[in-house]
Amino acid sequence: MGSDATPSKANAAGPVPDPAATPEARPLLGMGLSALEQWAQQQGQAKFRGRQLHDWLYAKGARRLEEVSVLPKAWREGLAATPPAGASDWVGRSRELHRSVARDGTTKLLLGTHDGLSIETVGIPAEGRLTVCVSSQVGCPMACRFCATGKGGLQRSLAVHEIVDQVLSVREVMGERPSHVVFMGMGEPLLNSEAVLDAIDCLCSDLGMAQRQITLSTVGVPRTLPTLAERALERLGRAQFTLAVSLHAPDQRLREELIPTAHAYPIEALLEDCRRYVAITGRRVSFEYILLGGLNDQPRHATALAQLLRGFQSHVNLIPYNPIEEEEFQRPSPAAVESFRRGLQERHVAVSVRASRGLDADAACGQLRRRLTA
Ligand code: SF4
Repeated sequence: MGSDATPSKANAAGPVPDPAATPEARPLLGMGLSALEQWAQQQGQAKFRGRQLHDWLYAKGARRLEEVSVLPKAWREGLAATPPAGASDWVGRSRELHRSVARDGTTKLLLGTHDGLSIETVGIPAEGRLTVCVSSQVGCPMACRFCATGKGGLQRSLAVHEIVDQVLSVREVMGERPSHVVFMGMGEPLLNSEAVLDAIDCLCSDLGMAQRQITLSTVGVPRTLPTLAERALERLGRAQFTLAVSLHAPDQRLREELIPTAHAYPIEALLEDCRRYVAITGRRVSFEYILLGGLNDQPRHATALAQLLRGFQSHVNLIPYNPIEEEEFQRPSPAAVESFRRGLQERHVAVSVRASRGLDADAACGQLRRRLTA
C-alpha cells in the first residue's frame, strides 16, 4: 500500500478534526518547521508530517496540498474540502495572471489573490544575483505623486503567505533561487510591519536567505521606526536587514509636494527616528532619493541633502525617475544625475546610482497592475 492510502491516526481513532475549526486556521505558507509540526499534530497526524509539509512548501514549492503525495490521501482530501480563511487552498499560493519579461530579463508578475485582487512582484536578474522586489500591500495609501501604485489608493494589506508566495513565484518562473529581496513593490511596509517581519523570518529560516540580503523600504510613518527596530530584535533575534528610507527631497516643503502624507511627519522628526533606529539596531540606514528632472535634481538640492545628512552614518541611493504614463514628471538627464552624484560625493556622502532595469516591461512600481486592471 502506498503512503497515499495509509489511513491517518485520526481516521483510525475517530472522526478527522475539522481543520478550518482550529483557532488560527490560516494558510500554511509562512509557517516554520515547529509551527507545521504543531499544526500536523493538532490535525491528529504524526509530528513528522510537519517536516514533510515544510519540505514540500519551501524546497519543492508545492502549489496545492493535493500535490504533497507523501501525505495520507484521506487527510489531503479532508483538508481540500475545508480551506482556511484567506485562501482557496491550505498551501496559500497565488495564481499567475500575467507575465511581462524585459529584454534584460527583468520579469514582472501579476499575481491573483483568493479574493480577486492582484499583486505585482518583479524578479531582477543581475550578474550572480536574483533580486525579488515584493509588495507588502495591495495598492498603497501613501499617495506619492510620482508613483503609479499611489494613484489607486489602498485595497488591503497582504498576509505573510501572500508575501512569501511572491518570492516562490519568481523562483519558479525564473528557475533560479532568489539571493536578495527588497520590499519596494506596492505598499508601505511599515503599515503592515508584523506580516513583513513574519515574512522576513520565513525567508531566512525556511528559504535559507541571509537577513543582510533583505531590504525594507519605507517612505516613513510617524513613530514606527523605533518600534520596528525593537520588534525586529524581538521577532527575529537580530535586525540585520537594510532599512531604506525614501527621502526624495532635502527639505520639508519639497518633500510634502512629492509625498502628501509627509505633512504629518516633519523631515527632522523622520531623521531623529532614523537615528534611534540606528542606535537600537547598530545598522546603517540607506536613504533613497528619486531624481525628478528639473524638480529635485539640481546642484542646490544635492548641497542641501548633504547638509541635511551631515554626521549621519548613511548611504544615499539615487534613483533616476522611471516615467509613468501620465508623464507628470520628467526623467532627469544623465548629466544631472552625474552632477548630483558628484555633489554628494564631494561632500563626503556615500552615494550610488541605481541602474534602470526593465524599462520596457512596465517595471516601475504599480505600472503593470494599473495597465492591466484599469
Ligand atoms: S512610492 Fe511606495 S509608499 Fe509611495 S505610493 Fe508608491 S508604493 Fe506607496
